[in-house]
Amino acid sequence: MSVHFIPAFADNYIYVLESRAGIWVVDPGSADPVFSWLDQRQMKPTAILCTHHHPDHTGGVAALARHFAIPVYGANDRIPALTHPVHAGKLTIAAAELSVLEVPGHTRDHLAYVWSQSLFCGDTLFAAGCGRLFEGTPEMLFQSLQQLATLPAATRVYCAHEYTQNNLRFAALVDPENPVIQQRQMLVRQQRDAGEPSLPSSIGLECASNPFLRCHVPALIASAQQFDPDCDGSPLSVFTTLRCWKDQF
Ligand SMILES: [Zn+2]
Repeated sequence: MSVHFIPAFADNYIYVLESRAGIWVVDPGSADPVFSWLDQRQMKPTAILCTHHHPDHTGGVAALARHFAIPVYGANDRIPALTHPVHAGKLTIAAAELSVLEVPGHTRDHLAYVWSQSLFCGDTLFAAGCGRLFEGTPEMLFQSLQQLATLPAATRVYCAHEYTQNNLRFAALVDPENPVIQQRQMLVRQQRDAGEPSLPSSIGLECASNPFLRCHVPALIASAQQFDPDCDGSPLSVFTTLRCWKDQF
């Protein structure tokens, strides 16, 4: 399976998954860049997968679905042109079997897809960060991220925005002695200077450097308690404090 990046808007990535099972487009927030990308390669998509309903992930769904007459997978009818509502568990598309995970928090009905050791997690887990809480509670997002952290360490993480540099600045502030963050900052700077995406990340790398997956680590507990003396030091309380801090960062 190959994963292709189509940049959209200021910092979104639309993904095209190409395999013998077909050509799937994940989170097409805009139709035009997808039409031109496919045109240049004489390719026709066979399905659309959506992680959540926000317009920067679904703005192109209806036009692509209509033009190519292809199915649209997603949580519910908040996804435009939805044909196949899906829930946590196995999902078969053509000959391929994917795992669907329910990961609420950023929105209450956010999904993630795992296929071929690759995770497409929309706005739930970002490289060195996590999504904002629009509809869910801190506990929901915390549990969702914990669920993603249990995937095999080698799982490639394809999140939907290029936020890595800004996220790493925050990570370095709250986890200042972590050498993995410092190495990662250097690597990502090189990638971005060369005009390349900083993705995919991996679950192993996120567990080693993403503050939102490290709320049990003494350095993060100390930082959270320094920011908010009312933080009780439990992983959920550390997570809630860090998310609130990052919102103002
Ligand atoms: Zn979103």
